[in-house]
Amino acid sequence: MLEYENLARLNAPFLAQYQDKFAEIAQKGWYILGNEVSLFEREFADYCGARYCVGVANGLDALTLSLRACAFPPQSEILVPANTYIATILAVLQAGHIPVLVEPDIRTYNLDDKLVEAKITAKTKAIMPVHLYGRLCAMPEILSLAQKYQLKIIEDAAQAHGAALNGRRAGAWGDLTAFSFYPTKNLGALGDGGAVTTDNAEYAERLKALRNYGSSQKYYNAMLGVNSRLDEVQAGFLRIKLKSLDKINAHKNKLAAIYQAELPGQFIKPWVAPEYYHVYHIYNIRHPERDRLKKYLAQQGIKTEIHYPVAPNKQQALRGILAQLATPLAEEIHRTTLTLPLSYAHTETDILHVCKILKKF
Ligand SMILES: *Cc1c(COP(=O)(O)O)cnc(C)c1O
Repeated sequence: MLEYENLARLNAPFLAQYQDKFAEIAQKGWYILGNEVSLFEREFADYCGARYCVGVANGLDALTLSLRACAFPPQSEILVPANTYIATILAVLQAGHIPVLVEPDIRTYNLDDKLVEAKITAKTKAIMPVHLYGRLCAMPEILSLAQKYQLKIIEDAAQAHGAALNGRRAGAWGDLTAFSFYPTKNLGALGDGGAVTTDNAEYAERLKALRNYGSSQKYYNAMLGVNSRLDEVQAGFLRIKLKSLDKINAHKNKLAAIYQAELPGQFIKPWVAPEYYHVYHIYNIRHPERDRLKKYLAQQGIKTEIHYPVAPNKQQALRGILAQLATPLAEEIHRTTLTLPLSYAHTETDILHVCKILKKF
């Protein structure tokens, strides 16, 4: 049996260092917003190429608080890709705004910049490019649209730690960028965690207050904040793993290259271009008979996942909330996509085995 993911095995190389760090923090007795969080914020901002980083409790809060830091008028329209993970859309709703869906580019699965302009109205305030599966969106085009229409850009980089376009990483393009450190992400903690990067000192200050009850000075609350803090233990673990993030991404690229070279043409593979450094948060293929393929692989002992089986505008929770627009491209992706095993814990032999089985389908 070939597992889709094994987080214990993935974290095993870091375990001894995590244990030392845990003992250090436990003995120090300072557990919330201390040195580890500050150091991680500095190191992660530097890694991304951003001026500031603010740690928060998870990726959803990173998105929601980024929107709140912008202080847009209530019910502003925010452009999001139609095939994103639901978190992006929930963040817009939680911040009191209106998500407006834009269809993806069927080749990259990312927001199609050519379809953005038609969705911009007088109420539009921001574009949220989601770097889905670990590949950056067409950021130069999105930046020029934002400039032309005076919109803010909030990147959802929850799947794109270390991903780059022409050498410029996720987190260094938008006005604000939200990251998640959920355990399965390329930079994953041993629990929940998130962060926002920005070059704007005012946004960074607002985020620091928002995550901590709206307070910059203890017991004085200038804003209606929340409790959304990255804790010291997770920050300590993330500092350790961050040192290996490039190695993790390189390993995933090496495994992806095997799929790219081995898989026959009946499987639609990720589009590659030299200017994009894809970090393969997941490796997906598309096939018209996706469900039969998934079952076949399961029978052969290979576990797979679907990212994602249901389009956001078809989710029960969003019925009556999202405008009922046709999103045929997003639906085509949801209907045909299949995620193959590919993680830091997999070997080249594992991937070659999957390829061998796939060739017999
Ligand atoms: C994981 C993810 C999030 C949410 O992160 P959490 O830490 O689980 O809240 C947001 N957007 C995308 C695209 C994600 O993949």
